[in-house]
Amino acid sequence: MYRVKIITLFPNSFPGLLNTGVVGKALKKKIWSLKTIDPRKYSKGNYKKVDDTTAGGGPGMILKADVIGKSIDACYKNIKPKDSYPMIYLSPRGTPLTQSKAINFSKMKGINILCGRYEGIDQRILDFYPIEEISIGDYILAGGEIASQVLVESIVRLLPGTLGDMMSASSETFSKDLLEYPQYTRPKKWKNLTIPDILLSGNHRNISEWRLKQSEKLTQKVRPDLWKNYKKSKTRKK
Ligand code: SAM
Repeated sequence: MYRVKIITLFPNSFPGLLNTGVVGKALKKKIWSLKTIDPRKYSKGNYKKVDDTTAGGGPGMILKADVIGKSIDACYKNIKPKDSYPMIYLSPRGTPLTQSKAINFSKMKGINILCGRYEGIDQRILDFYPIEEISIGDYILAGGEIASQVLVESIVRLLPGTLGDMMSASSETFSKDLLEYPQYTRPKKWKNLTIPDILLSGNHRNISEWRLKQSEKLTQKVRPDLWKNYKKSKTRKK
């Protein structure tokens, strides 16, 4: 079973959307498990303070190193080997989440995720522990909870047994540095728009060629970065 632990000030927001669809079914089937850790459990005093003002001045609050440190230690209690369960801090400063990162995480035994809030966490946490910072895009969310659900969903759908047909994962966008070709289903005609004849021809070879061409055209148009990688790997294969 793939083990997911999430450090969050909002444990009630889990499993959230992770309880729906194929990912929710996989949770029920025990393909993966979910545990939340609330840093408040490790804070002292009646007010259960987890944050404090920014050293040097500035707006907002910072999550305290002592409280977050204890939460991280709790994640690794009785866990061996520790490097089979990487610790991820979701942060707009991190390296972008990509499909190849999700594939790599899905091959581990599990993952620990730290959700930030307010202005983020004390830098010493990132200096002390081996933590990878990951961003889900170039925009700022109010906290890491939604980002963590994005990360977990991208991993869990790759775990054996989650998707009925693993072919659907291997032909998807990004699997070969190409965006997915256009897809259609019945009815054959809708608002005077028809399904391309070739998809109804029954000729699987022609259909594959058409799909590849469509993928290439689309990738070149909207994702020149992926197109460059695709061209490079195509030349290498020749
Ligand atoms: N002060 C931080 C900065 O400028 O980088 C932003 C803090 S943000 C308001 C609060 C928390 O939301 C972050 O600590 C992080 O956990 C989460 N977060 C915000 N945007 C994110 C993104 N694009 N990807 C991943 N996590 C994000």
